[in-house]
Amino acid sequence: MKTALIRTAAAIAICALVGASHAAAPMSHTPAAGFYRTTLGQYEITALSDGTHPFPVDTVMTNISQQQALQDLAEADLALPLQGSINAFLINTGSKLILIDTGAGALYGDCCGKLVAHMRAAGYQPEQVDEIYITHLHKDHAGGVAAFPNAVLRLSQAEADYWLTPANRAKAPAFLSTFFDAAQAAVAPYQAAGRFRPFKDFGPLEAGIEAVPAPGHTPGHASYLIQSAGQQLLVWGDIVHVAPVQLAHPVATVKYDSSEANAQTTRVQLLRQAAEQHWIIGAAHIAFPGLGHIRRRQGEYQWLPLNYDETP
Ligand SMILES: [Zn+2]
Repeated sequence: MKTALIRTAAAIAICALVGASHAAAPMSHTPAAGFYRTTLGQYEITALSDGTHPFPVDTVMTNISQQQALQDLAEADLALPLQGSINAFLINTGSKLILIDTGAGALYGDCCGKLVAHMRAAGYQPEQVDEIYITHLHKDHAGGVAAFPNAVLRLSQAEADYWLTPANRAKAPAFLSTFFDAAQAAVAPYQAAGRFRPFKDFGPLEAGIEAVPAPGHTPGHASYLIQSAGQQLLVWGDIVHVAPVQLAHPVATVKYDSSEANAQTTRVQLLRQAAEQHWIIGAAHIAFPGLGHIRRRQGEYQWLPLNYDETP
């Protein structure tokens, strides 16, 4: 009896000790790592987070009822306010360092513009970037472009023409006006330095890398297909803004789409191809790191995040 009492007392003392030590650990309050490394054949792929920001699903989505969009979120155990990721992808081919999209820079405020810090944390310096491929000239993709002093800037000629032609600003909705300013400010230093090299034709840019036309969200929106040793990665840019909504309902668009019809067609096409080809997708706005596969099940698309692999 006495022994049992002593044992119980000892157990209580241990519990109290364990409890106390857990409660005593202070919160870290340090930023998340912000980078994610994987490989694609012979290439090293580093996903870089630029930050997350509240994405106003209830006011920005079109061609879907607000009620349906919120229901799609609820089915994914998500609710408003929803944090939306801004992801970019660094491709090291072994002979070239290529950055696809550059985050928002200073244009989205404190939430974002973390890409360079995360790139450094990942072991790369902005000076090492040889080329930047831009999917489209929106602020959250081209806003961070100024940080790379040695890079050549590449994007489709159609995209450059759209944002750099003054007459288009007058025809576009008023809320896009600052987007025109941002696009012009982004490319100006590259033009001045002779490092602005838009491509007229989609197709191969580099051994193993081709530009794929993906118009709709913007007129000259490009996705980039990267292939190495039999593996394929499509860095698709803004094909999907809110995965739980647009995978269930690919017709759902956003008010920033230049052409809703083209955005719908492109999304349906690329979702189908991604599922059939088993491409790895690098997505700008699917939860960081935005790397995964697309699967079709019972008429709906699903996102399967990449399996985590720490082998170097
Ligand atoms: Zn975007």
